[in-house]
Amino acid sequence: MNLHDSITTLKGVGPKKAEAFGRLDIHTLRDLALTVPRSYEDRRDTVSIENLKEGEAAVFQGMVDRIVPSRFRGRRGQVLKLLVSDDTGSVEVVFFNASYLKRAFTPGKEYAFYGRPSRSNRTRVLQVIHPDFAKAGDFEQGIVPIYPLTKGITQREMRRIQASIRPLYDELEEYLPPQTMDRSNLCDIGYALHNMHFPEDGQKLKEAKYRLIFDEFLILELGLLAAKNRTGGAGGIAFAKNDWEQEYIESLTYTLTTAQQRCVAEIKADLESQRAMNRLLQGDVGSGKTAVAEIAMYKAVRNGYQAVMMAPTEILARQHYEGIRKSFAAHGIKTGFLSGSMKVSEKRQVLERIAGHDLDVLIGTHAVIQEGVEFANLGLVITDEQHRFGVNQRVLLKNKGKNINVMVMTATPIPRTLAVVLYGDLDVSIIDELPPGRKEIITRCAVPGKQNSAEVLRQKCYDFVDRQIKAGRQAYVVAPLIDDSEAIDARSATEIYEELSVRFEKVALLHGSMKQEEKDRIMEAFAEGKIDILVATVVIEVGINVPNATVMVVENAERFGLAQLHQLRGRVGRGQHQSYCFLMIGNNTELARKRGKIMEDSSDGFYIAEEDLKLRGPGEIFGTRQHGLPDMKIADMSRHMDVLSGARNEAVRILEQDPELTKDENQKLKERVTDLFGEDMTLTL
Ligand code: ADP
Ligand code: MG
Repeated sequence: MNLHDSITTLKGVGPKKAEAFGRLDIHTLRDLALTVPRSYEDRRDTVSIENLKEGEAAVFQGMVDRIVPSRFRGRRGQVLKLLVSDDTGSVEVVFFNASYLKRAFTPGKEYAFYGRPSRSNRTRVLQVIHPDFAKAGDFEQGIVPIYPLTKGITQREMRRIQASIRPLYDELEEYLPPQTMDRSNLCDIGYALHNMHFPEDGQKLKEAKYRLIFDEFLILELGLLAAKNRTGGAGGIAFAKNDWEQEYIESLTYTLTTAQQRCVAEIKADLESQRAMNRLLQGDVGSGKTAVAEIAMYKAVRNGYQAVMMAPTEILARQHYEGIRKSFAAHGIKTGFLSGSMKVSEKRQVLERIAGHDLDVLIGTHAVIQEGVEFANLGLVITDEQHRFGVNQRVLLKNKGKNINVMVMTATPIPRTLAVVLYGDLDVSIIDELPPGRKEIITRCAVPGKQNSAEVLRQKCYDFVDRQIKAGRQAYVVAPLIDDSEAIDARSATEIYEELSVRFEKVALLHGSMKQEEKDRIMEAFAEGKIDILVATVVIEVGINVPNATVMVVENAERFGLAQLHQLRGRVGRGQHQSYCFLMIGNNTELARKRGKIMEDSSDGFYIAEEDLKLRGPGEIFGTRQHGLPDMKIADMSRHMDVLSGARNEAVRILEQDPELTKDENQKLKERVTDLFGEDMTLTL
């Protein structure tokens, strides 16, 4: 038996089983050894039946007195009920839809069970539903791993197979360097595997888990940091060390905030060094990221390079284009636009101008990085709303040139400590200050209750909208759905649009599945003030800038994440008028009220993001997929933050001594990194 053998060499694993294991990505015995349990059950102590407690999973043993034949054929089909007793009492064991189990039990014989007792709704009798069981004496006790399964493989089978390959755990060679293990107090891989699959006690299991979590984070951080070192290596484009960007800054109609100035200085240092820039620019909506981006692009152009900026939606890209083209034209800089929905002939013309360096700056959707776009001399790439761009797009970008300066901008606030580890490959700049003179947006949450029904609240809200419109302002109304849905109980944009059209004159509907020209036409009309109320889905979430719009109404606000609500709210309050945000809650729950209160009380995106994290749980916000990072098997970004920072520090130390992981003692480690990231470790730019 060898780690590299196929699992089919195991007794009882034929082609069919192998296929099932394949679904779990288990092909070799090594894969099997490295399979991480989902969770563990503590089955060490046996409890007497009288001591079984509702809700507390436990092992108990007793004689099957009676198999109660099922006369009841309800929705769940056949029910098998056993009466099990020991010296202290008796308890019901119930299996639904499992009459085949009848033959598994012989009345008068002893069995052991593990399950969570509950009370029957009807009779209030203590029951244990679907316990794990075995003949007394055959029942495995201890801390038992629960593995991820797939159809065709059972827990018991998985445990049996792990037991059969147990000697192999010691054959996996240690891949962490000894210094790392010393410095971070890690147990070796063999010990970790033994105690992951067959934990001797809680302490040893803890040590094993710590080692494996640390291990996984270390590999992740090594990959991210190595990529950063590489892209940051010599041979990056270095712009001239001068203050040309000042010309542009002085031409602005406002002075930069201190935070903007700091970010500009950080970016300037990157651009003027040999090291390619790889920077994340974070800033709340309206904090002035675009101005910072313009300054960077201006510097690139004055140095004889082209700059490209891409946005996640066509509307946003166009808006950037309109604004930037005007500001840059005054400086003799030529700006072009490119998107997938353009006519072929128009596109061709733009492509030619880019290739011939007749355009200095290109703004557009992800079309700007697609094949066929050849730049004459690209020196800077900026992406807006980074979280919408996946790894694939980042890789495409990379192919546009070696060591290009890259800046990604995001309005999704992530606390700095977390950003540093999540974006291990990026430097982070934060604009944590809004331009002066902004009026705080007044936010009110409308929760239907005894006094005011949802309908009354809605009337009040639209009366307010009416007054704002009469005063010359405009409003957004956002709904979670485009059309009515049977499955989801929420108001749709279409329904709201129809209602509002009865009361108001100039109302328009905007949603993601409309044709591009249609969307553009509507957005333009709204920006020109020809439309009073824009009813929309979240397509307006990012970027749209209409300073005269002062009211944001969000219907079924409980269906949006807090960070998303914060983004939506950022669409108003962009001009000199006092602005308002109304969050209409459809479902009056405690959670909805809490979330509403947070939005009423705070306008700080970072704070809101943290609260969102607490309320919604980490998975939704820090899922690795969303951030384009490889999947972790055992480590969890949000739960194991402290391990993550430790692993990051260790990764930094390792790379300080061996930046490319070329030393002999680091070869096994490097293999693990390439396993995780792919051959060229090109997760990032
Ligand atoms: P973001 O992209 O971060 O959401 P923008 O760059 O669109 O923010 O800026 C929002 C508005 O604030 C724009 O109208 C911009 O002209 C203006 N602005 C940016 N920086 C400043 C500043 N330092 N002082 C005053 N206004 C500013
Ligand atoms: Mg922006």
